[in-house]
Amino acid sequence: MKLFKDPPKKNLGQHFLVDRDIIDKIVMALKPAPEDFIVEIGPGQGAITFPILKKHGSLTVIEFDRDLITPLMESAEGIGELTIIHKDVLKVDFTKLAADRPAIRLVGNLPYNISTPILFHVLEHAPAVRDMHFMLQKEVIDRMAAEPGSKVYGRLTVMLQARCEVTPLFMVPPHAFRPPPKVDSAVVRLVPLASDKILIQDPVLFENLVRDAFGQRRKTIRNAMQALCTAEDIEAVGLRPDARAEQLPVADFIKLANFLASKSSATT
Ligand code: SAM
Repeated sequence: MKLFKDPPKKNLGQHFLVDRDIIDKIVMALKPAPEDFIVEIGPGQGAITFPILKKHGSLTVIEFDRDLITPLMESAEGIGELTIIHKDVLKVDFTKLAADRPAIRLVGNLPYNISTPILFHVLEHAPAVRDMHFMLQKEVIDRMAAEPGSKVYGRLTVMLQARCEVTPLFMVPPHAFRPPPKVDSAVVRLVPLASDKILIQDPVLFENLVRDAFGQRRKTIRNAMQALCTAEDIEAVGLRPDARAEQLPVADFIKLANFLASKSSATT
């Protein structure tokens, strides 16, 4: 009996994994242990879901496409305990989900059209998350893992590296999916930093500073960040006002944002 009847939906970023080797590699990278609380984002037709369920015995999945809910439920019968959250992942409160349970291990071949909003949403719940194994566009992973000075070093790099350890794992070619996407993909491991290692004092100020810095990457940081700080502020933390954002290591953005945060709390 073929339970999954509907064709892939483009508007939901549905590219289903069909390559067994890649599926095995994802499960191996995840290495589920009996005590883990594993949550998959976007199970689709279950390409990763069922291998994890077989190995681990239980799994929670978050799927937005209503047409997939019943087939997923029926296919899981006899394999393991599948809990389905039928919801937009951007509306899932991961902190609540992890209450009274171990920190979540997230896994997913993400819908590429909303992968960045998903990453930022999950980061808001970082203390509830132990790690993430995500399939994304390779280009996005290159940006996440970039070093200062690289052309692709930018807002996503700084925002992620300030809160997570980013480890690219392996590449995945388009023919591993049905239908094949137009771009190369890759799998990344993200591990949120322990709360005592997250040094940002004012997350909103930090986010605004990074956004402004890369809003006009060709400008010097003095000009790009002028709404939030002066050349004197930049010099006070030992940076050059004529530097460009793409040259600054993540730690320098944190240093400057924290200086501004302390300065504004001293004046209020
Ligand atoms: N995991 C499956 C696989 O590897 O074959 C499917 C991956 S497919 C790239 C992305 C999945 O995310 C689809 O099942 C899609 O319906 C689901 N999805 C798209 N937008 C979503 C959202 N906002 N919330 C939850 N799931 C979503």
